[in-house]
Amino acid sequence: MIQKDEINEILEKYHKEKITIATLCSHSALNITYGAKQEGFRTLGICQTERVPYYRAFTEAKPDIFPPDIPSIEDPKDMLNEKFQEILREHNTIVVPTGSFVAYVGSKNLEENFFVPVQGNRKVLEWEGNRKKQKQWLENSGVKIPKEFKYPSDIDRLCITKFYGAKGGQGFFLAASEKDFYKEIEKRKIDPKKTKFVIQEYVLGSRLYPHMHFSPFSERGLKINDGWLEILGYDQRMESNIDELHRAGLSRKEMKKLGIEESFTVVGNRPVIPREKLQIPYYSIGKKIVEASQKLFSPGMLGAFCPETICTKDLDIYVFEISARIVAGTNIWSPTGAPEGWYIWGEPMYMGRRIAREIKLGIERGELEKVVY
Ligand code: ATP
Repeated sequence: MIQKDEINEILEKYHKEKITIATLCSHSALNITYGAKQEGFRTLGICQTERVPYYRAFTEAKPDIFPPDIPSIEDPKDMLNEKFQEILREHNTIVVPTGSFVAYVGSKNLEENFFVPVQGNRKVLEWEGNRKKQKQWLENSGVKIPKEFKYPSDIDRLCITKFYGAKGGQGFFLAASEKDFYKEIEKRKIDPKKTKFVIQEYVLGSRLYPHMHFSPFSERGLKINDGWLEILGYDQRMESNIDELHRAGLSRKEMKKLGIEESFTVVGNRPVIPREKLQIPYYSIGKKIVEASQKLFSPGMLGAFCPETICTKDLDIYVFEISARIVAGTNIWSPTGAPEGWYIWGEPMYMGRRIAREIKLGIERGELEKVVY
């Protein structure tokens, strides 16, 4: 693991008035870049060659430092090349990690081979990426989580089987019994002995994704120990084809007979304004998650995160996963800002901008190292 002192040393050499905010051109890069520009930062785009013309097409959200001024990359892992890292450091770059960034570069590489300051707490990536650790984090926080079944023979209700590392819900399936489970496994030609998966109770309700941010600086939002929790907005993912199956009016059995497989692949996001009474339990969930993180991996959760939740008909909220960085669902509120963000900041405050604001506050206070690792 790259030590915090090593990153602090790099940060000390940076020209603080010339800090550049960078990310990989994917996932929430337009949101992050536009937000950083609004906060007065120079921006840099780490971009794969075939994507360059497309990111250039977003005239106002295009990063300032962009190929051909810097090299484009063929594979996201190319940013680990010493020469590329040197270019990033020369530009006084702070990198904002996103879902794609972590998935393509790998959390192990970020922990061990990426000597460029990263916004937030690098340690959190390991707690997010490792399902066992993430479960420990959730259990320690005391939030409600879906029941898990160790063996297929334990299945006694509708369950969802999730594969490790299957980003965006790809390949997940539903099964209500052991027999169902093995039928699905066979169909997918999966060897359950060689594949890592988790079987979770399928919680019925409305999925809600709150856009949370924890700051040691802001003095806005909900005070928790030495920091402040803000919820800037909410979204719901659009998942194909599970969201639309009801339109065909078929039962799960009929669907299977026709050879239609449910799928949870994310194709987009829609805005949600939850009932006002739900804002309180959502803050409470965020508080519990932050407090547990501070105990488990000090200084704990910093910056953007999202407990992925399902709210049942009785308004019980289950957390089935934590994304410990900006989620793509925040894109829906960029650059207008959701009402919740306005109520805290009195101006459009969406996650890309909020991340840049945090870096700005860190520079102004001479405490940048508190929010960068
Ligand atoms: P990502 O890393 O992109 O967040 P993932 O591959 O880790 O995705 P999850 O977010 O855990 O997968 O789940 C994908 C989708 O499956 C969810 O958005 C939700 O629709 C559904 N889902 C997951 N767990 C449950 C559950 N316990 N009950 C009901 N639906 C669930």
